[in-house]
Amino acid sequence: MKAARGMVVTMHYTLTDDSGAVLDSSQGGNPLAYLHGHGNIIPGLEKAIEGVTAGFKSKVTVAPTEGYGESDPESVFEAPREHFPPDMQIEPGQRVHAEGPNGPITLTVVELTETGAILDANHPLAGKTLHFDVEVVTVRPATAEEMTHGHVHGEGGHHH
Ligand code: ZN
Repeated sequence: MKAARGMVVTMHYTLTDDSGAVLDSSQGGNPLAYLHGHGNIIPGLEKAIEGVTAGFKSKVTVAPTEGYGESDPESVFEAPREHFPPDMQIEPGQRVHAEGPNGPITLTVVELTETGAILDANHPLAGKTLHFDVEVVTVRPATAEEMTHGHVHGEGGHHH
C-alpha cells in the first residue's frame, strides 16, 4: 500500500539540525503514527513520504518554509518579572506556558534581563533547516473514525 491521503503511516525518524545534533528521534520507542494528507506532520516531510510503501528509507532535508516556518523577530519580546509567578525559577532555554490571544501558547526563555526575561514565542524549530532520517514501517488505510477525527488512534496515536 502506498502512502496517500487517508492512509495511516507509521515511521521511525531521527531529526538532526545543520550541525548534526539530534533534536528528536523515535528510535527506542514506538514509531510515529500519522494520518497522511491531514496536516499531522510538517509539509516537507509529508511530501517526501507521498506515494512510498513500507520499508522506504530516506534522508529528507526540509527548509524552514516547508517545516516550522521562518523565525519571526516580532515574536521575541521582553516580559517583566512580575508577569511570572513570584516563586518561579526562570532559566534560559526553559519553556514556559502562557495564555495568548488565541489560546495557550508555549514560549522559550532566551535570556534574563535586570527587569524580567526575553521570551521567544516562535516554534523552537522555526527558522531551522531540518534533516530527517526516515524509515516507513507500515502503511494502512485509516478507519472511518480516524478520518472523521483527522488523526490516528491506537498505538503511536491518540487515545481517547
Ligand atoms: Zn480521535
